[in-house]
Amino acid sequence: MTKIIKIDPANIDMELLSQAADVIKHGGLVAFPTETVYGLGADTFNSDAVANIFRAKGRPMDNPLISHISDIADLEMFAREIPPSAIKLAEEFWGGPLTLILKKKAGIPDCVTAGLDTVAVRLPSHSIANVLIKLSGTPIAAPSANLSGSPSPTTATHCIQDLDGRVDMIIDGGSSMIGIESTVIDLSTEVPVILRPGMISPEDMRSVIGEVVYAGEVEGAPKCPGMKYTHYSPNASVIVIEDVSDYKKHTRSGETVCVIAKNASDAGIAADIVYDAGNSDAEYAARLFYLLRKADEDGADVVFAQLPETSGIGIALRNRLFKSAGGRVIMK
Ligand code: AMP
Ligand code: MG
Repeated sequence: MTKIIKIDPANIDMELLSQAADVIKHGGLVAFPTETVYGLGADTFNSDAVANIFRAKGRPMDNPLISHISDIADLEMFAREIPPSAIKLAEEFWGGPLTLILKKKAGIPDCVTAGLDTVAVRLPSHSIANVLIKLSGTPIAAPSANLSGSPSPTTATHCIQDLDGRVDMIIDGGSSMIGIESTVIDLSTEVPVILRPGMISPEDMRSVIGEVVYAGEVEGAPKCPGMKYTHYSPNASVIVIEDVSDYKKHTRSGETVCVIAKNASDAGIAADIVYDAGNSDAEYAARLFYLLRKADEDGADVVFAQLPETSGIGIALRNRLFKSAGGRVIMK
C-alpha cells in the first residue's frame, strides 16, 4: 500500500513530513517533489533500500543515482577530493538544479554509484526536499520518480500513475517548477564536462569556473551512464519539428495528431490536439513532461513537438526532446 500525503511547500506541516522522514529512516521509499522533477528517495547509506529504488522503477542497475543533501558541508561525506570548482559552483548554484560528479569516498554503497569511482551529489532548493533530508538525518539517493523509460514526473499524479503500490509513500507538494532534471557536471576530470544539460547552462557555469566542455546534442557515446537508455517516451511516437506549421506534410491518415508549439494559439494550428508550450523555452521545459503524458491520456498516436532554441535551457530541452523522439527530427 502506498500512502499519499499532501504538503504545502510554503507552509510545511512538520508532523506530516516527519512521517515521510520515518519511512526513509526505516529503509522505505518516498516519492517527493523537487524543483526539477519528483524524486524517488531512499537513505543513501542503506544498500537494501537503494536496491529497492531500482526494483520499483525497473531501472537498470548500471544507471547510478544522485544523492541529495541539505547542507554544502555534507559534500565531505561523499567526496575524497573537493576541487575549488565544486565549492564555487555549489556556492553559486545550490540549492538548485545542478549535480556535481566527484571522486567518491569509501563507504558510499556500490549500488548508489553503479560501481563507479565517482559519485553524484545535489543540494535541491525545494523546501519539502530540503526539510525531508534534514528530518531524515541522512542524504537521500533519488532518481526521478517514474517507471524507467517514461517521461519524468512533475506532479504527484504522475508518480501515482507509475508507482502506486510499488513505493511506501508519495508526497504531493504541487508541480515541480523547472520541469526537467538537473544539469550534471563531471568535476572528476581535469576539465569539467557537462554530462547532462539542464537549466544551469554551460555559459552560467563558465562565468563561475572558466572552461567547461559540453560535447553536444547527439554525437558520440553517452557519458552519463543513464543517458544511453530510452528516456522520456510516452506511448505516442514523438517527432521533433523545426517548422511546426509544416507538420501536416508528415502525418498519415487515420492518426490522431498532437502538436506542441510555443504560442500555439497564435500559430493557427488545426491538429486534433494542440498544446501550448508557453512563450519561452523555460515555460516549455516546465510543461514538456506533463504534456507528453497528457498526449497519451488524450489518445494521441503521434506528437509533433516544436524544436527549442540552441541557448540557455533550450539546450537541455532539445536534449530531452531528441531522446523522447528517439532521433526522429525534421529540420527545415
Ligand atoms: P535521474 O535522477 O533519473 O535523472 O538519473 C541520474 C542521472 O545522473 C543519470 O543520468 C546518471 O547517469 C547520472 N549520474 C549519477 N551518478 C553518476 C556518476 N557517478 N557519473 C556520471 N553520471 C552519473
Ligand atoms: Mg530519470
